[in-house]
Amino acid sequence: MSSIQRRKSVQVTIGPIRVGGTAPVVVQSMTNTDTADIEGTVQQVKSLARAGSELVRITVNTAEAAAAVPHIRNRLDQLGVAVPLIGDFHFNGHKLLREHPGCAEALAKYRINPGNVGRGSKRDPQFAEMIETACRYGKPVRIGVNWGSLDQDLLTRLMDENSSRAQPLSAQQIMRNAVVLSALESGRRAEELGMAHERIILSAKVSGVQDLIAIYRDLSGRCDYPLHLGLTEAGMGSKGIVASTAGMAVLLQEGIGDTIRVSLTPEPGGDRTQEVIVAQEILQTMGLRSFLPLVTACPGCGRTTSTVFQELAQSIQTHIRHRMPEWRREYDGVEDMTVAVMGCVVNGPGESKHANIGISLPGTGERPVAPVYEDGEKTVTLKGERIAQEFQELLEQYVARRFSKKTVTPGTAVA
Ligand code: SF4
Repeated sequence: MSSIQRRKSVQVTIGPIRVGGTAPVVVQSMTNTDTADIEGTVQQVKSLARAGSELVRITVNTAEAAAAVPHIRNRLDQLGVAVPLIGDFHFNGHKLLREHPGCAEALAKYRINPGNVGRGSKRDPQFAEMIETACRYGKPVRIGVNWGSLDQDLLTRLMDENSSRAQPLSAQQIMRNAVVLSALESGRRAEELGMAHERIILSAKVSGVQDLIAIYRDLSGRCDYPLHLGLTEAGMGSKGIVASTAGMAVLLQEGIGDTIRVSLTPEPGGDRTQEVIVAQEILQTMGLRSFLPLVTACPGCGRTTSTVFQELAQSIQTHIRHRMPEWRREYDGVEDMTVAVMGCVVNGPGESKHANIGISLPGTGERPVAPVYEDGEKTVTLKGERIAQEFQELLEQYVARRFSKKTVTPGTAVA
């Protein structure tokens, strides 16, 4: 694991999950189902939890959604999915929590956006009502500022102050200051209303990487609340992944961030669990946590002109992810395993020897054989049509042999 010095923060407990303090950085995600659709939401929460999401946020925007929340919780419990649910509230959250006590109770945390709790004179009392409800039910809150819904009164106040300066700051700097101040002032206000200091998490999301870094650096130096990290509206596909990684990696390297979410726009029909996988991969490649075995694969080049190598790398990656929930339950330390899938003899044997288990496929013009290495030693050479299946079988045998069995308590939850 990495030697990154984490920023000091208090620790917040969300059901069985700890965020901040000495706890590892927590991965969270958010559903995109209509929360009123109980079965659809249950199935998506279940797959996000199975992929490794340790907290799952759901939208609570209507009376129907609020009424569905306790049923979603019950159904998940019946399925053995213990992942805490976080309610995402805007505008009418105070009313929904008041009118649906079952929802207020079933949620493990409330997310409150101080820019969206109500307009004008309604803002303060509605914010207060949400905080008081959280206090009454003993729930922590995340005060989640988003620059797309920034408190306009605060922004206007800072703009006015700025215009009277001899050397005014840029509009961008004012926006950054407003985001930070909105989070800090809302945290302080929540405490004045009775919320315990160690029940508050802050976030301050923006969609620009440099803004994100500047804002979180500022915020982290001005409070010891745990910080939820994420780029909002990161985008789709590689753009969303790269932007999220670029921003969060810089901050995580500086020890900033106690829980993360990668806000990817899914491709039409795409898999929502991708945001969980990317979040885990950010943390694991930075050496902050281990979630599943890493597959080291070379990029391929002119020496690998067939698709055999790409297909094998993909099938091994898929196999590992598919098997991981069971492996994690059965074997100690399997998430630290490394697997190498290499395209030819140039770097193949060397990289394979460094991995727990590795295979070096034949490059163009090489003998059609694939040596396999386990713990640095060549153990077998595969050939023929079934190389992929045989390597998977060897991987299964290696895991069973190399990692010690956990003692499994009957009835242990799957998720
Ligand atoms: S290991 Fe071989 S196939 Fe892979 S990138 Fe290097 S030279 Fe190319």
